[in-house]
Parts: sequence; structure tokens; C-alpha cells
Amino acid sequence: MSKQVISIIVPCYNEEPTIPLFYPAVQKVFVKLREQFPGFEPEYWFINDGSTDNTLTELRKLQQQDVEHVHYVSFSRNFGKESALYAGLQHATGDFVAVMDVDLQDPPELLIQMVSGIQNEHYDIVGSRRVTRKGEPPIRSFFSRAFYRVINRISQTHIVEGARDYRLMTRQVVDAILSMAEVNRFSKGIFSWVGFKTKYIEFENQDRVAGDTHWSFFQLFSYSLEGIIDFSDAPLSIASYTGFLSFFAAFFALIFIVIRALIYGDHTAGWPSLVCIILLIGGLQLFCLGILGKYVGRLYLESKHRPIYIVKEEK
Ligand code: UDP
Ligand code: MG
Repeated sequence: MSKQVISIIVPCYNEEPTIPLFYPAVQKVFVKLREQFPGFEPEYWFINDGSTDNTLTELRKLQQQDVEHVHYVSFSRNFGKESALYAGLQHATGDFVAVMDVDLQDPPELLIQMVSGIQNEHYDIVGSRRVTRKGEPPIRSFFSRAFYRVINRISQTHIVEGARDYRLMTRQVVDAILSMAEVNRFSKGIFSWVGFKTKYIEFENQDRVAGDTHWSFFQLFSYSLEGIIDFSDAPLSIASYTGFLSFFAAFFALIFIVIRALIYGDHTAGWPSLVCIILLIGGLQLFCLGILGKYVGRLYLESKHRPIYIVKEEK
């Protein structure tokens, strides 16, 4: 019986209360998993993403408890979940790699179905998808649906609605993801961009076991805008089209006004409409310039080749 290692990447940001609950829950699943697939071993990679609570202390404790399987990487500050995932993928040595949230919103039991998808059905990636959003404010669900509609219309990369980062991948997929060394990492896009045969397991939304979410509505909103900009240049085209359209409209309006003035004379001074037009075009220009600026900003950050994360401690 050959040993197969599943690396489990767990980003943790202020997760002191959830870590002690997460580990036994996943261990239990591995006991069950081995009944069906003997020889499967976990390798945990907890990434402490610059937590300000005692997350690191919890991780050290856990590592002492299970030195053989538990590892952690602790960042010098909060770099964001995307960076934590990248660090985890770089450190993972397993034949398979899973990405899982520590708050148990990603049900660990699904791991068994995921392994079966890869082993028995020969998928390269088995992901997970939330089909309900119960317990979530309706406004959040509305914007989330709008985001998937927009990004899938304007980007070549298809992003499955409700897909979580929670997934199991083969080593080949992980190496493909690692070859994308971009600094602006939008995981949902990257996971899908690399391709491979993918299956999604559907599950119902779970509440956090403890602690609070780290995402405010505004953060989620700007995260989706970033995703759109990272994986589509359609906004740039939208900017040029609107500019083009407004130019033509103004051009024909001008001809109309000149002809009308020649035939009927200019009765009104017309400055209010003029001010409106100036404002309109000024606004359009600023809008397009803003879009351009977003992309130039991205380019600027990418060109610096800064590291994606900085490690302070690891074991
Ligand atoms: N997380 C992280 N860095 C951050 C924010 C979150 O590593 O800056 C981790 C967090 O600890 C959790 C996962 O990302 O394991 C998902 O975060 P959260 O549960 O707050 O998001 P939600 O499930 O509400 O979308
Ligand atoms: Mg969560």
C-alpha cells in the first residue's frame, strides 16, 4: 500500500477560536477517508496571515501536538488570503493539494468525495460550490450574482457561480498555478484560467463555527472589481466605445446646431445646455481615465516584482 499525501492549505487571519476546532474535524475525516482510500495522509500547512490575536500561539501548540503532519508559515504582516494561498501552494509537498478555510464553512467531509473524484473519475480538480446563500444579507447575494454575470460576460475566463476556493487538486495543477507568478492574485480567476478537467461538488452554505467574517460589504465589492480588472480588458474597450459614441453624438449635434442657427438664427444664449454638455463630456473623460488608471496601476505594481508575501517564522 503506497502512501499518498494530501497537503491541506489553511489560510488563517485572526482565527484563534477556530483552529482548535478545525484540526480534529479534519483528522476525523481522514480516519473515514482511509477506510475507502488506504494510505492517504494529511500534511497541514497553516498560513498565519499577520493575525493580531493569538493565532500563532495556537498554531505553535498544534504543531507541537502533531509534529509529523502539522506545519505553519507565519507572515510578517497581513498580506491577504490570496497571498496566503500562494505561500501554501509553494510549501505543499503532497501528491494532492487541498485549499480549505479554517472556519469549517468548507465542510471537511467533502474531501472524501473530492478524493473519489480524482482517484475514481480521473478529474484533475474537484472544487466546491455553494448552492444556497442562507444566512447572508440579500443585498450581498444580489451583488454577488451581478458580479458573476458581469465577469462571465466580459472575461474569457469562466468563473463558476458560488465556487469556493475549497478544492482538491493534483500536483500537476498546483505546478501550473505556481507558474503564474503575478502579484495581483485573484484566485477564483487563476484556478479557472489554468484549465484541467474540473468537477464541482455542491453544498449548502454553512455558518462559521466561531469568530466573524473578515470581509465587509465594501471590501467584497472592491475585491470583485479587482477580479474583473485582473481577468478582463473589456472595461478598457467600454471606455473607448463610450468615448467614441459621445464624440459622434457631439459631432452631429454640432452640425445640427450650426445649420439651425444659419436658417433660424440663434435666439437663445444657450449657456445652461453648454455647461451640461461640458460636464457630461468632462465626466466621461474622467471615467475613462479612471479605468485606464486602474490598469496602469496594476502594471506599475506588477513591474516592481515585489514578493507576494514575507515570512517571519515557519516550521
Ligand atoms: N483570511 C486570510 N487573510 C485575510 C482574510 C481572511 O487568510 O486577510 C482567511 C480566514 O482566516 C479564513 C478564510 O480566509 O480561513 C476565509 O475568510 P472569511 O471566513 O473571513 O471569509 P468568508 O468565509 O466570510 O468569505
Ligand atoms: Mg468563512
